Amino acid sequence: MVYQTPQVFFKGILNKIKDDGLYKEERYICSPQDGKIKARFPYDSPEKEIVNLCSNNYLGLSSHPEVVQAAHDGLDQRGYGMSSVRFICGTQDIHRELEAKISAFLGTEDTILFASCFDANAAVFEALLNKDDAIISDKLIHASLIDGVRLCKAQRFIYPHSDMEKLESVLKSINAVNKVIVTDGVFSMDGDMAKLDEICALAEKYEAMVLVDDSHATGFIGKTGRGVHEHFNVMDKVDIITTTFGKALGGATGGCVSAKKEIVELLRQKGRPYLFSNALMPAVVTATLKVVDLLSASTDRRDKLEQLTSYWREALTSAGFDIKAGTSPIVPIMLYNATLSQNISKDLWAEGIYAVGFFYPVVPKGEARIRTQLSASLDKSDLEKALDVLIKVGKKYEILGKTKEEVIERYGA
Ligand SMILES: *Cc1c(COP(=O)(O)O)cnc(C)c1O
Repeated sequence: MVYQTPQVFFKGILNKIKDDGLYKEERYICSPQDGKIKARFPYDSPEKEIVNLCSNNYLGLSSHPEVVQAAHDGLDQRGYGMSSVRFICGTQDIHRELEAKISAFLGTEDTILFASCFDANAAVFEALLNKDDAIISDKLIHASLIDGVRLCKAQRFIYPHSDMEKLESVLKSINAVNKVIVTDGVFSMDGDMAKLDEICALAEKYEAMVLVDDSHATGFIGKTGRGVHEHFNVMDKVDIITTTFGKALGGATGGCVSAKKEIVELLRQKGRPYLFSNALMPAVVTATLKVVDLLSASTDRRDKLEQLTSYWREALTSAGFDIKAGTSPIVPIMLYNATLSQNISKDLWAEGIYAVGFFYPVVPKGEARIRTQLSASLDKSDLEKALDVLIKVGKKYEILGKTKEEVIERYGA
């Protein structure tokens, strides 16, 4: 019975998480992912229809009939699993076809697929950099980038979020063979964009590479949805893009590094999550191929998303909500107090609106919020309904039209 001591220990940690009010509970969706879903919570409660304001299904492609059909076709024609890593017997021609198609879409030289963007980020630093090199990253980069950076021996520097002066002073002070500036394209918690034009200019000035994780942008940011590099018109200035197929691009699974060709070649030789983890399922490959075709053929979905986003941002602002400024479909409603964010999320759920409250440690202390995310699978009528409910709940808690200071004074932060 060696488990007795660890058991007490683990229970203690779990209790602490619960006591701190940080225990995460999962809600159960009983329909395909969509703008309106059927869900239940707790598990044994009846199903109900609910408007979904918290998925990463930005373009509504997760359950798109042509994408589903393409996955069926992949399953029928290429079977279920590869049972191999890529370099042994796990590479199909369609893997290579997808890599080429993504390179063309993102405007890069080459692309290498991974099981997820988490894996792509775990691979990229360790394979390319060593102790003579330097990584300079934004303070708010995604957890998977942080973990990837930890796996490599390069020197590390962090600049305050989007602080270009600090970035420049760090770049000025570093002595390293290779330098790489690392940022998210769109930051997931605030929904703001990296200042990629300025970052690229600094990179040029101080001879650094630029790595952008565009997971919350690929498919819909920029005029034709290429990403943040398109938005800032620096498509030829970004050296490395990492991104996911698990958000806008159908939302199943998979990710990639899309970059200069030597970088991709090196990752195929040295990327540990590539060398030691199974190849992407063929059905995911054929479905993602279809997604990229759909996005290349028409911008209708990203255009609709953009329209819904500006409607939503304006509607919330005129109703008196305090939202984070920006243009991305991530629209955080600031509440500052963690308990308030949980209570409002609960009330919204009761009224048929699904939006999750975030608080420390997911966001900084005193920055609790409800994060709403838009999707082309939503219609304006869904948002009108959501707005009515939000206003009702906002009135209940008397937060409409209140300043940050007033909300904090009443509820604490
Ligand atoms: C979601 C996300 C990831 C992880 O993507 P997966 O493919 O789900 O592993 C990585 N980076 C960023 C910035 C993300 O938002």
